[in-house]
Amino acid sequence: MKITATQSFVLQVPIGSTIADSMQTVTHLEFAGLTVDTDAGIQGTGYTMTVGAGGRVIQTAIDTLLADALIGKDPHNVREIWQQLYFGKAHWIGRAGATTMAQSAVDIALWDIVAKAAGRPLWQVLGGGREADIPIYNTHAGWLNYSASQLVDEAQALLDQGYTALKMKVGKPDAREDRARVAAVRKAVGEGVLLMVDANQKWDLMHACAAASLLEEFELGWLEEPLHPDDIRSHRVLNEHTAIPIALGEHVYTTQAFRDYIEQGAVDLIQVDVCRVGGITPWLEVAAMANAFNIRVCPHAGDLMQVHQHLVKVIPNHWLLEVIPIWERGPFRHQIELRDGKCISPSVPGASTDFTAEAFDRYRTS
Ligand code: MG
Repeated sequence: MKITATQSFVLQVPIGSTIADSMQTVTHLEFAGLTVDTDAGIQGTGYTMTVGAGGRVIQTAIDTLLADALIGKDPHNVREIWQQLYFGKAHWIGRAGATTMAQSAVDIALWDIVAKAAGRPLWQVLGGGREADIPIYNTHAGWLNYSASQLVDEAQALLDQGYTALKMKVGKPDAREDRARVAAVRKAVGEGVLLMVDANQKWDLMHACAAASLLEEFELGWLEEPLHPDDIRSHRVLNEHTAIPIALGEHVYTTQAFRDYIEQGAVDLIQVDVCRVGGITPWLEVAAMANAFNIRVCPHAGDLMQVHQHLVKVIPNHWLLEVIPIWERGPFRHQIELRDGKCISPSVPGASTDFTAEAFDRYRTS
């Protein structure tokens, strides 16, 4: 099989509401990626996601740094292609950021082709794994722009839908307000529900230590992204200070950075994102490395879990899949399927990354 053509795209998809964390306010999700055609008539799709800006930069990286090198290659050699692209034109200006996100899209598209060619869902092509449906947690009830009473109502609604694990945002200017909001939700959902908090990098070390102390009594599943994602040392200091497990990974771009976090005892739970770390190829490497250190993986929803729902099925150290069910009917041809607090195992051949033709007509901006 040979790659014959590529076509990059940017889709701007409104989410129909306004949601916020401590870093940003979001009204649109942007999907930047590409389709890859082959002489076998199989087309793959790969994308990465932004919260509404930067997609054109990623598209330009795909078009000017990566796409040419794909023509004529056999997509089955996806791991070798990853190495060639990584050490190719993008290396001088990249290794993290938009170029790595562009490479994520390419790598996902190639694995999508490999799985479609095999006539199998991606998780089976990657060696298979647990047949059981996947345990999940929901982030969509806990936005920072919600009032405390809205947080309680949304959390209650999710419990009614069968969820047993929720995440809420923290990062208000006064840590005591965060404490009051977490207290209200913990009281409403009870002790049996797994509750996590996410600061989205908002804090410095002093604030993080103080906030963690205030939150410790609520028996949180984890504290996510408390600090700047490049500051491994401060995460280690915080981890020594607090009993709350530290989770991160959605803004970590390299296997080497994950290694340093783990090796320095600065993280307890890895949230590696297939859309940011360079694709499926390095994602599997990071997950395997975490497993060697007896650390769980709960990926970040950078792909809205279209790809991750496959990947978590093949690793032994998976715990919970994040879900943010923004749309009743989203832009994907085979949208992730949720039922009774679980993700139904995908069965369609491929990586579940194809968009509908209608989504392309309606939302394509570039
Ligand atoms: Mg997060």
